[in-house]
Amino acid sequence: MTDWHKISLEKLAKQVETPDGYIRLSGPLEHDNIVNGDGLRAVVWTQGCPNHCPGCQNPETWDYEAGFLVEIDEITKRLSDFKGQAGLTFCGGEPFAQAKACKQIADYVRKELGWNVWSFSGFTYEVIKEYGGEPWEFLKSLDALIDGPFILKKRDLSLKYRGSSNQRLLHLEPGTGKIVSVE
Ligand code: SF4
Repeated sequence: MTDWHKISLEKLAKQVETPDGYIRLSGPLEHDNIVNGDGLRAVVWTQGCPNHCPGCQNPETWDYEAGFLVEIDEITKRLSDFKGQAGLTFCGGEPFAQAKACKQIADYVRKELGWNVWSFSGFTYEVIKEYGGEPWEFLKSLDALIDGPFILKKRDLSLKYRGSSNQRLLHLEPGTGKIVSVE
């Protein structure tokens, strides 16, 4: 195991602490977003990121105590009011630092609204799979994962939905987490 891989596993263990039934967000819910996945999408912006990538566009989302707490029931109610959305995308911050809460929301929108679910993560698929637990359960609830940290030296603004060429758009089989295709 490389040092980077080991450090990533340690970072993933640092989950944002929230009361049961709550999630910590960095901004308001969005809808009709076209830049964070295919089709018109709702977006949940999570607060808290342990990755601290140099060149990150949203360093204000790193602090685990900043942002604001919202009841998950309130989020699902508000998402239900958004009409004509193809799906939901989790952006951050680091959605996998609030894996349990994100999975609850992901399961709701798939089952009750029929939406597909995407997430960004500064962690790689392989790290999340090896870590297991709630992060892996959240990953298994997704249709797509854009994975890996933003690496300034590899910045490429021509890539769809990604900021650097190390990041992958992984299409997944919901329920198993199996990789179906890679962009
Ligand atoms: S993982 Fe995303 S939010 Fe976190 S530091 Fe890296 S670019 Fe910023």
